Amino acid sequence: MTDTAPKLSQLKHEACYQQLPKAFYAHVKPRALDHPQLAVVSHACADMLGLGPDSLAEQDALDILSGKVIPSSWQPLAMKYFGHQFGYLNPDLGDGRGLLMAQVQTEKSGLLDLHLKGSGMTPFSRQGDGRAVLRSSIREFLCSEALYALGIPTTRALCVVASDTPVRRETMEKGATLLRVARSHIRFGHFEFAYHSSDKTLLQSLCDHVAQLHFPCLAKTTHQNAELFIQVCKATARMIAAWQCIGFAHGVMNTDNMSILGETFDFGPFGFMDRFDAGYVCNHSDHQGRYAFDRQPAIGHWNLSVLAQAFSPVTESDALKAGIQAYSETFNAEFMRGMRAKLGLETMQEDDQSLVFSSLQLLQDNRLDYPWFFRQLSEANAYNLDHIRDHCLNLEQFDAWQESYTQRLQQENSATQARKAHMQATNPKYILRNHLAQEAIEAAEQGDFAPLRRLHIVLQHPFSHQEGCEDYAALPPQWAEGLEISCSS
Ligand code: AMP
Ligand code: MG
Repeated sequence: MTDTAPKLSQLKHEACYQQLPKAFYAHVKPRALDHPQLAVVSHACADMLGLGPDSLAEQDALDILSGKVIPSSWQPLAMKYFGHQFGYLNPDLGDGRGLLMAQVQTEKSGLLDLHLKGSGMTPFSRQGDGRAVLRSSIREFLCSEALYALGIPTTRALCVVASDTPVRRETMEKGATLLRVARSHIRFGHFEFAYHSSDKTLLQSLCDHVAQLHFPCLAKTTHQNAELFIQVCKATARMIAAWQCIGFAHGVMNTDNMSILGETFDFGPFGFMDRFDAGYVCNHSDHQGRYAFDRQPAIGHWNLSVLAQAFSPVTESDALKAGIQAYSETFNAEFMRGMRAKLGLETMQEDDQSLVFSSLQLLQDNRLDYPWFFRQLSEANAYNLDHIRDHCLNLEQFDAWQESYTQRLQQENSATQARKAHMQATNPKYILRNHLAQEAIEAAEQGDFAPLRRLHIVLQHPFSHQEGCEDYAALPPQWAEGLEISCSS
């Protein structure tokens, strides 16, 4: 990075989303927070934007990030969309507390959206105050940057700005902003909005827009919409397969929280699993368990069916069926590819699926920690897994599983050292466990951002051993078991 790297205020806005019909947005100005303070920055994300490493520490950047100043070329807007929330259509949605501030062309990643979350009320705020609290902004920051480092498709976060602005949730908290960076902020819900407007030109213009920007080889071809739908289905499948392999529960898979590009989007009461529990529900408001961990693949399917309906006025029905089919096939293939890699298997064998399911059953029945188990497996000699066995309740079950696992390994040609290296590059040593996020949040709420910054640094290299970071790799303490994350944000 050179001294000539631009400052945030010098990034030039390219009005791309605004080429859509006016119904898709409203121009809104952000409302400033009081006494803003930079809590944490992702230098990797800054670099992606071509910003200098220290450019965000300057006052003019803080003025923009806290909603006080709008650079002259920027034209902030709130997007309009619908969405199915917990299975029911809600037409009253849109950016209620965030603004697309600008779209900027970058050398490394093409056109990127800069979205300021927590920037005040908009015409779509309904009863809300337009704000985001520090706690939830930190959670989104840590999670999106952690997922990125794990190689999972996700939106990014540039930084969190804390403030003194009071915000009422269950208790009084402080307002914050997060600058989200993403290739697109278009959601399934945008297509639902266009569909329900009964104006086919809205729908077609949205399809054209997404195709031109993100799938240029499809744009203007005869089967543009059909191919676009199939691509969305496949990208969604890849994302959810990656969630299942890493043990991530999104928590609120409403269709307004689904990115059209299949990137993990809109982080609320998400959770990474500690002890494996297939039915893990991280969102305490989700009383029916609609978004339980093991239901995520089926919910992805359900959400894509909603999207298929939205595409239907401008797309042949056979193509929509093909897209849904492609979702299932891609999910199954990607999930099995990911789980084989976790187990250190390079070849494909017929019984692999049953080995994967018996591994998950072993974890479930013995209440084993999910990331810990796979990391131990990556570091150990497969023929001596006594330290894992010591954590098991049902030793017979463990012995039977180990027997089938070692037999399966014998069908592999890979050298042990190479296998371990591959396994360690897919089974992280450091994961954003709930209690780690919670400790960083509690310190930040007291004005101490050092633990947050340290945790962020550790999570940027989740697969490599980091000296002096044993605590971050340890099993969660007992108090973390009953940790309930507030779902308000
Ligand atoms: P979420 O559950 O965060 O995905 O939000 C669902 C919808 O409610 C979106 O349209 C948000 O913009 C809106 N929303 C959530 N919280 C607030 C808030 N504090 N003020 C205004 N709108 C909000
Ligand atoms: Mg949302």
